[in-house]
Amino acid sequence: MRIVIVGAGQAGARAALALRSAGHQGSITLIGAEPHLPHERPQLSNELLTKPGATVQFIKSAEHWAAQGIDLWCGTAVVSVDPDRREVGVADGRTAGFDRLLLATGMSPRRCAALEGSAIPVGYLRTIGDSRAIHDRLVPGVRIVVVGGGVIGLEVAAAAVAAGCTVTVVEAAQRLLGRALPDVVGRFLLALHTAEGVSFRYGVTPTGVEGGTVVLSDGTRLPADLIVVGIGVEPSAEIVSAFGLPAADSFRVDSATATAFDGVHAAGDAALQYSPWHDRWIRVDTWANAQNQAVAAAKAMIGLNVSYEEPAWFWSDQYKVNLQVVGDAVAEEHVVRGSVESGKFSVISLRGGEAVGGVTVNDPREMGALRRLVAARLSLPRADLEDVRFDLRRAAAA
Ligand SMILES: Cc1cc2nc3c(=O)[nH]c(=O)nc-3n(C[C@H](O)[C@H](O)[C@H](O)COP(=O)(O)OP(=O)(O)OC[C@H]3O[C@@H](n4cnc5c(N)ncnc54)[C@H](O)[C@@H]3O)c2cc1C
Repeated sequence: MRIVIVGAGQAGARAALALRSAGHQGSITLIGAEPHLPHERPQLSNELLTKPGATVQFIKSAEHWAAQGIDLWCGTAVVSVDPDRREVGVADGRTAGFDRLLLATGMSPRRCAALEGSAIPVGYLRTIGDSRAIHDRLVPGVRIVVVGGGVIGLEVAAAAVAAGCTVTVVEAAQRLLGRALPDVVGRFLLALHTAEGVSFRYGVTPTGVEGGTVVLSDGTRLPADLIVVGIGVEPSAEIVSAFGLPAADSFRVDSATATAFDGVHAAGDAALQYSPWHDRWIRVDTWANAQNQAVAAAKAMIGLNVSYEEPAWFWSDQYKVNLQVVGDAVAEEHVVRGSVESGKFSVISLRGGEAVGGVTVNDPREMGALRRLVAARLSLPRADLEDVRFDLRRAAAA
């Protein structure tokens, strides 16, 4: 059986390796648009951005891919997919036939139209090249406007402050991370970044660049040497149009990672999956999902029985703070455990009394229990959840 994987990022690479581990002996062609070997992205907003001379950690060496009999085509994008003829076409003119196809094309940063053609350099953060380009400009005294107060924007702000830059974060909403985190955590992060010297502008968006300043929708002008945009992500345009799908629908998968197209699976950021924790279809753009859903897809493609259903889980390191988030952290109700002032606390998010999400701040041990609690959507008395002496670990293990 011939398997083609489109996208040689984390999910594509993990699926290829998992296919061999699961005993698949047929051909595997792993095709990636980036010129590099497959790698994981968290290092791009951490080590690579902050540490001078940091080198990229690749998932495996070129020799390893060859030894596994995985045909890796780097630096060339798939531009067409013919699900009936079971063939993909690549930008360099090659074609590859498949019996099973895995779409692991990740996402692309959403562009800020008002900043296209800007005289001030504009950076996005998705690739090794993006990270290096931003890193090279993070020098003391540089004035940076970060557009978007999400996780990527805040990680860039922290890296820039550490490098001695002056940072202003521009956020269209009235608070930080409002769609992903409960207000109490958003306020904690605001206080953290403000204490480190970051300035914030809320409820505004950039409308353009004039004379070395970023012009905001309220008329304010922010002098800047560099703009970094982190306003979300979009699916790979080539693949979406190759299937003739509306972008919003690409690529809906079932719990066995299968799409509506016969023999075509999807995994990682690109896959749209139903989350019982969020009670809606979502894209799970996290390291853990890229890892685990890819393994599920590999098994499903060779006919093994899989049912992949995990609450989303991700982390973010900003200054000395470790933040971890599981499931739907912005459901109906919230219970705060511990003291926000101490800088070590957690929040449990409830819907209909069930634990459907949570956040830990500087408390990774508690996240272990929270992940189990949320995976099982346990209902526990609110008074117990609020009480830090209540053993969450034991309750979650029961
Ligand atoms: C800067 C950054 C920091 C992050 N930090 C964290 C973190 O701390 N914790 C966490 O949980 N998650 C983090 N994430 C999210 C995590 O890295 C992603 O969820 C993960 O990379 C998704 O893996 P993927 O394989 O689906 O997509 P990707 O790793 O993006 O790989 C997709 C690949 O497909 C390729 N591709 C796209 N279209 C085509 C085409 N037509 N033909 C061929 N190839 C194509 C792309 O070039 C890319 O190489 C971070 C993401 C970024 C960008």
